[in-house]
Formats: sequence, structure tokens, C-alpha cells
Amino acid sequence: MNSDITRLSAAELAHALDSREVSSVEVVQAHLDRIATVDADVHAYLHVDGEGALAAAQAVDQRRASGEDLHVLAGVPIAVKDVMVTKGLPTTCGSKILKGWIPPYDATVVSRLKAAGMPILGKTNMDEFAMGSSTEHSAYGPTHNPWDLTRIPGGSGGGSSAVVAAYEAPWAIGTDTGGSIRQPASVTGTVGVKPTYGGVSRYGLVALASSLDQAGPCTRTVLDAALLHSVIGGYDPMDSTSINAPVPSVVEAARNADVKGLKVGVIKELGGEGYQAGVRARFDESVALLQEAGAEIVEVSCPSFDYALAAYYLILPSEASSNLAKFDAMRYGLRVLPEGIDDPSAEQVMAATRDAGFGDEVKRRIILGTYALSSGYYDAYYGQAQKVRRLIAGDFDRAFGQVDVLVSPTAPTTAFKLGDKLDDPMSMYLQDVATIPANLAGVPGMSLPSGLAEEDGLPTGIQILAPATKDERLYNVGAALEKMLVDKWGGSLLAKAPELTAKGA
Ligand code: GLN
Repeated sequence: MNSDITRLSAAELAHALDSREVSSVEVVQAHLDRIATVDADVHAYLHVDGEGALAAAQAVDQRRASGEDLHVLAGVPIAVKDVMVTKGLPTTCGSKILKGWIPPYDATVVSRLKAAGMPILGKTNMDEFAMGSSTEHSAYGPTHNPWDLTRIPGGSGGGSSAVVAAYEAPWAIGTDTGGSIRQPASVTGTVGVKPTYGGVSRYGLVALASSLDQAGPCTRTVLDAALLHSVIGGYDPMDSTSINAPVPSVVEAARNADVKGLKVGVIKELGGEGYQAGVRARFDESVALLQEAGAEIVEVSCPSFDYALAAYYLILPSEASSNLAKFDAMRYGLRVLPEGIDDPSAEQVMAATRDAGFGDEVKRRIILGTYALSSGYYDAYYGQAQKVRRLIAGDFDRAFGQVDVLVSPTAPTTAFKLGDKLDDPMSMYLQDVATIPANLAGVPGMSLPSGLAEEDGLPTGIQILAPATKDERLYNVGAALEKMLVDKWGGSLLAKAPELTAKGA
């Protein structure tokens, strides 16, 4: 069974473990073997914890053998984006400034995975401090898209989607502040969900922009995303923005998908000019499938979305510049002494450390954010952006007064070539044009593979959005559409990806 283990979905693995067809040690070992075969090329992991994962797997196997009642997902391994703190395991956030830092505690998400008995395979690559849309801003080198190693896997969480697409983990944890779960899912042919803001604890998630950050699942199927969402979701007193309500019934929705009579709004402002032809074509076909299945399709206008990107790129840098102030050379990771100064002051050490430890994109955003927040400019930039944010939330409220869910393409293009947008920050930022409104308003969103673009043969994604706290609607529509698309393709989209082989083979 070993060679097939990595092809199974997490739900299938859980079933195989429960029926003792396979042990957790075998499942973990199969993934470690796969990592050893392909990760030199894909570079989706920053740190693989083979020993820790095998030990956790062995413990679960023993508990199962002794007849203990285990969580349904016990023994299914997982990978975690390197922005989540993990006790005893390096956490770098893709930055040199955190090199060598070993957190003394687990993020709530990580504790919940461990409590369910899920071995942690390792930490996945990401753009430095989750700033980027290609994973090229990682201080440890880019991740490569498993569909085509010369292309980007999306970002900032390219590593989490790539490990899933390359069968180096059944599933992974990502984080989404402006699209970092959904856009990588779109360009790697996988599923990604950003839950409602406050639906998943941010405790132990190294903050990029605290009012936007949200962790969520990166998977190969909608059901897997729902299963993972139900493990990591729910109230946490350690996060003051955590919603004190039960996790939406996401697993039930994924299992009983039916879109008959559902009102689906196509967002007029997203999907027109600037979107690749193949992305648009696959999107239109997906909408037609929903209609055939009995959904009512209407066009909905959200006029403020045109300003979402501009507002986001003021709010995010503002919050990031403040959040990153804690990297002061005293508390974490790297410390660099300034050259040619005998007895440097704390400020001089801080400046030298931040200069050496942060990459260009991080510095760019710190400068932008500090400027937007500075006295005299605050109202004109940060203040205005907050007003736009309010308008966007208003557009969502009006739209969800008319429809149950909204849809759009997830990203304007398929995976572009590594290096293509590195010298042009604005064109990189434009990757987020369709995903950002959901973060600004706090509503949940899913990206689901919609097909392959004819012009380059690469995966495309459809985005589904629902009102805040109604996450189950994403899973209902997502699972219904996934079933129709899989029927249409005669199997999963990922099965069409070229086979990866060992480096040099
Ligand atoms: N591309 C977005 C940015 O660079 C993604 C942020 C995120 O979701 N972490 O800000």
C-alpha cells in the first residue's frame, strides 16, 4: 500500500487508519519518503520533523492498539505554515530575523492538531512574514509549483499548497491575510479556505496584520477542508477576537451538498479586464454547472471593490509596521552588531539587526506603513483606507441581502514564471485583487479548482464567498461544484498534473 498512501485524501487515510489497514507510522513514513524524493525540487518545506512525526505516529498507533477511543483524524499527519509557532520546532516566518528561534509554546491551532493526534510533518515555506503572492520573498529561497517547477506556487503560503499538490502531506495549515490560502490553492489546483475572521484562533500565529489574519485549511478535497476546519475552529479565550460560538456545521454541509434553489451572485467587478482568458472561461463553466444543478444565478455589483486593493495596501503595511516592531534584536532570533562601533547602543544594534534580518519587501512595507500612520498623513492615508474598508463591508451586506453566496475567479492569472513579477511590486499586488475584499470585511472564502486554462494547461480557481459566520455555505456550494467538476474531468484535477520524479532522475 505504501506507494499509494500519499495519494489518499485525509478522509480516506482516517478511514484506513480506523480500520487498521494501515498504521500512522506507515502513513508518516510514506510522506517522509515522498518528501525525500521530491522536496529537493519543490522546496515546499523549511523544516521537516521526521523524528517528531514518527514518534507522534507511534504514540497514536499504541493508543489505538490498546483500544482507546481516538479522534476520527488521529494518526493523519499534517504540515504547518512556518508562521505558526510550534513548541520545540523552528519557526522562521520565512525570515532571517527569526533564524534559530525555537518557540517555547504551541499556537492554539497547533495544540488542537496535536490534541486530535495528528503528527506534524514539518513547517512550510512562505513569503517573509507572509508578504507576497509567490513565495519568492522567502529568505530561504522560493517554492516551485508542482505543476511546473519553473513557476510560482502562489503566496504567501505557497509551501502549504505545494506540499498538498505534490503529495508531500495530505493537508496543511495556511494563513490568509489578503489571499495567502486562496491564491496558492488556485494556482496549484488545490482547495483553500479562509474562515470567517475570528473563526480560528490567532493565538500563536505571528501577526502580519492582526485585523485581517486568519488561519485555515489547505487540502485536496472540500470534505478534507471541512474536517480540518472543524478541528482548528472554535472559541479560544487566548484570542480576544475569537468568536464565542460553535464552529459552523461545515462537515455536514460538505457531506450533504445541494445547491437547488440557492442564490449565487456573480460579482460584476471581479473577473473582467485583467483576468486571463482561461481563468474566465473555467469560471463561466463552473457558474453554468451551478445553474444546471438548480442554483439561481444573478449578477451583483460591489462598486467599492475597485478600491479594495488600494485600501488593503495601506491598512496592511500600517498594521505590519507596528507588529514587526517587536523584532528588536533583544527578544528573538538574530542579533547583528553594527560594524565599526565599539560600544553600540541598543538602537544601533536594533538598526543593524533589522537591516540585515529583513528582506526588501518587508522593509518596503514597514516604510509604507510608518508613512501612512505618521502624523499629518494619518487621516489622508490610514483614515481614508478605513473608510473604504467600511464601504466594502457595506457592499457585502447589500450583496448578501440578495444572494446566499458570491462567486468570482480566485486569482486573475494561472501560475506565472518565477522571477516574472519580482521587480514590479504593483503587478505582484494585483494578484490579490479578488481575494482582498473578503479579508477587509472578515467574511469567509474558499478557492476550489475550476479546471485548466487552455493557453498554458495550468490550474485555475473559483472563489466562493459567504456572509460572516456562515462558513458552511462555502462547503455546501464547494462540495456540490467539486462533485460536478470531478465527474466532468473523470477524476481529480490534480491527477492531471505531471508526475514529479526524484531530482536528476
Ligand atoms: N499577497 C498578499 C500580501 O502580500 C498576501 C498576504 C497574506 O494573505 N498573508 O499582502
